[in-house]
Amino acid sequence: MSQIFDLDMIKAVYSRYPSRVAAARKAVGRPLTLTEKILYAHLWDGDAKSAFGRGKDYVDFAPDRVAMQDATAQMALLQFSTTGRKKVAVPSTVHCDHLIQARVGAKQDLQDALNKSNEVFSFLESISNKYGIGFWKPGAGIIHQVVLEQYAFPGGMMIGTDSHTVNAGGLGMIAIGVGGADACDVMSGLAWELKWPKLIGVKLTGKLSGWASAKDVILKVAGILTVKGGTGAIVEYFGPGAESMSCTGKGTIANMGAEIGATTSTFSYDDSMRRYLKGTGRTEVAALADAIAEHLQGDPEVYADPAKYFDQVIEINLSDLEPHINGPFTPDLAWPLSKFAAAVKENNWPAKLEVGLIGSCTNSSYEDLTRSASLAQQAVDKKLKAKSEFTITPGSEQVRYTAERDGILGTFDKMGGVVLANACGPCIGQWARHTDDPNRKNSIITSFNRNFSARNDGNPNTHAFVASPEVVTALAIAGDLTFNPMTDELVNEEGKKVKLDEPKGLELPPKGFDVKDAGYKAPAEDGSKVEVVVKPDSERLQLLEPFPAWDGKNITGAVVLIKAKGKCTTDHISMAGTWLRYRGHLDNISNNTLIGATNFFNGKANEVKSQLDGSYGPVPATQRAYKAAGVPSIVVGDQNYGEGSSREHAAMQPRHLGVKAVLVKSFARIHETNLKKQGMLALTFANEADYDRIQEDDRIDFTDLTAFAPGKPLTLVLNHKDGSKETIQVNHTYNAQQIEWFKAGGALNIIRAQQKG
Ligand code: SF4
Repeated sequence: MSQIFDLDMIKAVYSRYPSRVAAARKAVGRPLTLTEKILYAHLWDGDAKSAFGRGKDYVDFAPDRVAMQDATAQMALLQFSTTGRKKVAVPSTVHCDHLIQARVGAKQDLQDALNKSNEVFSFLESISNKYGIGFWKPGAGIIHQVVLEQYAFPGGMMIGTDSHTVNAGGLGMIAIGVGGADACDVMSGLAWELKWPKLIGVKLTGKLSGWASAKDVILKVAGILTVKGGTGAIVEYFGPGAESMSCTGKGTIANMGAEIGATTSTFSYDDSMRRYLKGTGRTEVAALADAIAEHLQGDPEVYADPAKYFDQVIEINLSDLEPHINGPFTPDLAWPLSKFAAAVKENNWPAKLEVGLIGSCTNSSYEDLTRSASLAQQAVDKKLKAKSEFTITPGSEQVRYTAERDGILGTFDKMGGVVLANACGPCIGQWARHTDDPNRKNSIITSFNRNFSARNDGNPNTHAFVASPEVVTALAIAGDLTFNPMTDELVNEEGKKVKLDEPKGLELPPKGFDVKDAGYKAPAEDGSKVEVVVKPDSERLQLLEPFPAWDGKNITGAVVLIKAKGKCTTDHISMAGTWLRYRGHLDNISNNTLIGATNFFNGKANEVKSQLDGSYGPVPATQRAYKAAGVPSIVVGDQNYGEGSSREHAAMQPRHLGVKAVLVKSFARIHETNLKKQGMLALTFANEADYDRIQEDDRIDFTDLTAFAPGKPLTLVLNHKDGSKETIQVNHTYNAQQIEWFKAGGALNIIRAQQKG
């Protein structure tokens, strides 16, 4: 197997551990959790004392690597390409997995995706090649499975432009999902900021057996903590139960930690990780980790008395753990298997199971596939025909190739299973599901991680449940949601009653992993001559032009583009759905700017008054007209403006269309930072009630922007239509560096200037 991980980088990270951990212990004055050790080892300035002194505040970190999936990589790399850097500052990879639609089966679906999104894939390949970024082509696998197999390493810190980046916690990383702007910063050699997290400890005792699997651990944790319980926290799993579990099982648990809102989850380095590193061709990494093993786990005192060191502690005995099924419509509605049939009847959920889907980045390890295949083989041996449709999504070409070689895919085939491309497919709604009646209430069950309404097949009538791959397989054989494989019998083709035995699997392939073409393309050593392919008439891709610098003058006569009323999330500011297709084309996607926001003055979405001619029209067109006429504009918003996904488009689009400032009662923090990064003014009313003073026909003057300084409020004069004037104060949280971003027209302009200098 070729070495594609960066051994020198890992050596450099590990060399920091002994002194950083010792200094952190001294600064904190007590033993450390694993999470704290990893965080302290990755402090940007290396100063444990100052980080600790800042308490639970935002701290700068130096992540070791960046991973990007194809949908989010487009804008991240378009931004990076404007920095003037010749190469990324940290090892980075792009993975083509989100743009492949599941329809008939792996081969045809992959070909269709290549035809349909070839332009985007070619762009990602060429821009990766140019800037020293590893490229995983379509069909190579799902980002998180590939990262686990190839790049993750115990004690490392990674950011990724996808919320399930957290999967790498299964191999002892702190791995966190971020927006493209953050990825761009880290690839440009800048620090990355994170709020010092709360710590949740999950002590695992006992050992999994029978039908219970790692998935059931996280399904149970999701039931306990709910979709919000992990917010702002890192979850650290420990105890003999954690050690007894496979590394890929740990990956499943860390992966679905995103569903409890956790920043990430992690596990101490142990023998399962050692076995996995060796099994995936990384014996050298295992040897390096062995040499500092004591630092890649929490201190013994912490695990002996966890309540003293974690903000919250949960204990689960794996020996008692019952398989769970969670859903529908939310991943934290947890049902023990024995209670599920009654819940189906009571809630009148459709009992007939139409489709069972296994795989995805959450559950597509060799162990998962062999355990499910042991049930598929039983179905064949016991003359049972699967009553539901059944699909398998391998997580990587390496897993798929090995599973095919070992006859596992053949077994699924005999059961009637369809192998889909090594990609996200149905998990992200890229699923052309065949159904006779989309209006019928229906049930599906998956081994994926999210089951929100319409996520998988776009149909709100679909009741999606989440379970382990083995439970999904058993239920697909039965075709019945109320079937409990632990206790119930099925009638086979000969009319005989048969029972499924417990699933059995193999942690790692006995003959080792193998693959003919893993789908990796290393970047050019010198990418300076590589041309990045973006057609000027492309509707999906557009090279970015740097935003203009501030002209040094006060803004005067600004009109109110929209005064948004109530909730205004990043989805309201930059809608998803069909607009996803334009994620790499700033001008085209800007046509959705704020179309979901409600206009305070008429209660309607996407209908605002033009101050040019008094007519009412869509927000984007109105703003484009202001820009063309050279009329400055501001957006006014309510509480927690910009909450939701961290996508930078929500800040870039208003900026691109010429909006000067966003003035709100309060911001969601990430959006506020994104606005600052793009060179916008992100302001809050000093007095929230002043929101009510803003009138539809106001002209607004900034009187002291020329004296913009940290901690100093700004003054705005509202010139009302009736000739009256009101003066209000607005606050901001810009530090000196961020004011420089504003002056330069955006953080990227500063990075570019530094590159030139
Ligand atoms: S398989 Fe699903 S959860 Fe995993 S990266 Fe793809 S869309 Fe996200």
